[in-house]
Amino acid sequence: MSNYLKYILACILFILGVYLVSGMHFQDALWVYLLLIVLMIFVSIVGHFSMRWNFHLKAFVGNKNETQKIVAITFDDGPNAVFTPDVLSLLEKFEATATFFCIGQNVIRHPELIKEAAEKGHTIANHSFSHSSTIDFNTTKGWLQEIEKTDAAIEKVLGTTPITFRPPYGVTTPALARAIKITKHRVVGWNIRPFDTTLKNKKKLVKRITRQIKPGAIILLHDSHDRIPYILEHLLLFLRENNYKTVSINNMMHDAS
Ligand SMILES: [Zn+2]
Repeated sequence: MSNYLKYILACILFILGVYLVSGMHFQDALWVYLLLIVLMIFVSIVGHFSMRWNFHLKAFVGNKNETQKIVAITFDDGPNAVFTPDVLSLLEKFEATATFFCIGQNVIRHPELIKEAAEKGHTIANHSFSHSSTIDFNTTKGWLQEIEKTDAAIEKVLGTTPITFRPPYGVTTPALARAIKITKHRVVGWNIRPFDTTLKNKKKLVKRITRQIKPGAIILLHDSHDRIPYILEHLLLFLRENNYKTVSINNMMHDAS
């Protein structure tokens, strides 16, 4: 049973309990029931957006037990013809490794970039095919198409399919959970999210990331905007100065299991 179902069941039992304890005077405490229902809906919505809660499915969001100074840098939404080459050059300069959660339709547009990334030792992972803004309303079948089409696009270039998937916007739903049961991908989240696509101040973004760095952290970045070379360079400088090493998501998950 998913954490979501357990939560709904607990809420129903709690509301029923309040009803029984209150002597079944439903009308007298109507506002209490309304408040409980609103709270229940609010927590459900937050749970959809928080992979850390493992509400609908179990996601890997970092290794809390890691003792070595290692972190996983991840890039979502690429490959991007303008910014992915800069990211790859910086990673090479600092001898760092990263994981790229790619959008299937971008893989079809720029297969040479994921080929180059994989040849340089980086990990290529699945981040849906369309990254549509309404993707969380998908049925199980819709999610399956999103995941399988991206796997196929990556396999066509690399000859292998990714073992990890990150849902766009970090939103999880029961339909996605059912699809993942079929595709058997490991779902990966993060524990450092600087909001690099929305915040414009590069220095603030670097500070936001570096102050949260700890062993076993997963950093969520995007190789899709013009601030990324600055952010990545300063992050890599910080990691080098503080003796941190970068690892792929697959290696971090392997160490955690
Ligand atoms: Zn994304």
